[in-house]
This record gives sequence, C-alpha cells and structure tokens, in this order.
Amino acid sequence: MSSSSGAQEQAGSAALLAVRDVTIDFELRGGSLRAVEEVSFSADDAEKVIILGPSGCGKSTVLKAIGGFNHITSGAIELRGKPISKPGPERLLVFQDTNQLFPWRTVRSNIMFACRVVLGLPKSEARAVADEHLAMVGLERFGDFFPHTLSGGMKQRAAIARALSVDPHLLLMDEPFGALDAQTRTHLQQELNDIWGRTKKTILFVTHSIDEAVRLGSRIIVMGKDPGHIKMDMHNPLHEVFEEDIEAEPVEAAEFRREIRALLHQVDDPDVTTPPGGQG
Ligand code: ADP
Ligand code: MG
Repeated sequence: MSSSSGAQEQAGSAALLAVRDVTIDFELRGGSLRAVEEVSFSADDAEKVIILGPSGCGKSTVLKAIGGFNHITSGAIELRGKPISKPGPERLLVFQDTNQLFPWRTVRSNIMFACRVVLGLPKSEARAVADEHLAMVGLERFGDFFPHTLSGGMKQRAAIARALSVDPHLLLMDEPFGALDAQTRTHLQQELNDIWGRTKKTILFVTHSIDEAVRLGSRIIVMGKDPGHIKMDMHNPLHEVFEEDIEAEPVEAAEFRREIRALLHQVDDPDVTTPPGGQG
C-alpha cells in the first residue's frame, strides 16, 4: 500500500516527458547506422520545446521514438515516469505531409472519427468536440469539405485540430509547416502560438529553421549530426514577444539567431571538417 502510493507520488513529480541517454541504431544491409547517440532531455507541462538541427541529424528519429514508432537501441523514454513502448493517443504526431487526413471523409468526419475511436465518444458528442476544434483553428465553415478541396495550410490546420481533439498530453510536430509557402507558414505559426496560449498543451516541434525555432519555442534544443546528438538546450528569452506578435522584430532577435547559427555550424570535433553549406 505504502509502496504503491510512493510510486504514484514519484510518477506525479516525474517530468511529463523524459528522454534519457537514448541511442538509436538502424540495421542496414551493410551494417548498422547510428542515427542518434546518448540524447537526453525532458519536457514539462505547458512547454513548447523545439528540436532544431540540420537535415539528417536525427530529429525525426527522436520524435518518432517518442511517438512509439521507432525502437530505441539503448536508453529510456518515459511519459510521467512510465516507459513508452508503442504508439498511443496521449502522444500524437502531426507530419509535414499535407495529406494526413482520410481523403474519403469530410474534415469534420475525420475529427469525429478520431474522437469516437480514441475517446469512445458517441456521435453527437464527437460532433460537438469536432466543431469546437474546427473553430479553434479557424475552419468552422469547412467541416463539410473533403480534404482535397482545401489548401495545404487548411489541411495542416485540420490535422492539428484532429490531434488536439483527443486531448493528448503531448503534441509531436515534425516540420508541420515545412511544405507551406512563407505567408501561410507565418499565419500557422501565429495560430499555433495562439492555440498554445489557450490550451497550454505541451508541444514538441521539430524544425531545421532557426527563424521558426525562435518564433515558436519556449525552449530550443539544438542538435548536431554524425551521429545525432544534443549540442545545447536553452530557454528562449524572446518567446513571449513572439507569442504576442509572430512578426515582431525585437532588437535582440538578430543576435539570438546569430548565436544559434554559430552553434549549429560549430564543429564539435576539430578533426572532423564540415562541408561548407552542409548544415542549416
Ligand atoms: P532529420 O529528421 O534530422 O532530417 P532523420 O531522423 O530522418 O533526420 O535521420 C537521421 C539519420 O537516420 C539519417 O542518416 C537517416 O538516413 C537515418 N534513418 C532515419 N530513419 C531510418 C530508417 N528507418 N532506416 C534507416 N536509416 C534511417
Ligand atoms: Mg526529419
């Protein structure tokens, strides 16, 4: 009895997400490839944690492992102190691909389907939750539309609405705005900040864009490659400014971006040379 309540207390005080010394190797025909090595970080409630790094540094690999889709070679990933072993609705992924919705269902029906399957809601309640979340992302007039009739930005909004509708503990986003034009991307960044302001849902967001990281993160984790590792885990002193206005240009922003850029390009091992323009 006392030991179980002790365990509960421990779970209650555990970080929402803990990634500890995670190494992931992929077995290939010619041998094995170490995608990430000894990656450790945690995320608490109501944080917007950005994972920033060059292409191929293992950002998606880490995010998929947290989603339960990638096997880890060593280390541990825990949600409130419980090891993650498979995908679950408390950790939902939104990808870059703008075709994540079921094409044969309307936008509302996509969201209702998630609510019915994951939350077991009856149809009328699922419809109410769907409409609430469509309104949250500004799609209240598009519930009856089929995905192929929407723009890329609208489809990503709908995918975010669907993910949030089942009330996950953690929203995992892998370059969700990467395929959008600059203007739409800026709009969705502002919307994501607004949604976060209202829901305070913990978001883990992967990007290779310094600008996006600085605009969206309350914390920024900078990764390097060969194999993927964490270079720096830092608080973003400007996140409140960008929550207010995504297009703000505080004087400190240029310097902060420069620091991050220098960090990204910094070679960890003096014996290893980085090809020019190979990162970013
Ligand atoms: P990022 O998202 O930062 O661009 P990834 O996580 O996609 O990087 O990839 C990291 C490394 O792991 C790359 O070298 C990539 O080729 C490799 N990799 C990723 N997924 C697989 C897989 N399923 N099988 C084999 N290698 C993989
Ligand atoms: Mg990736």
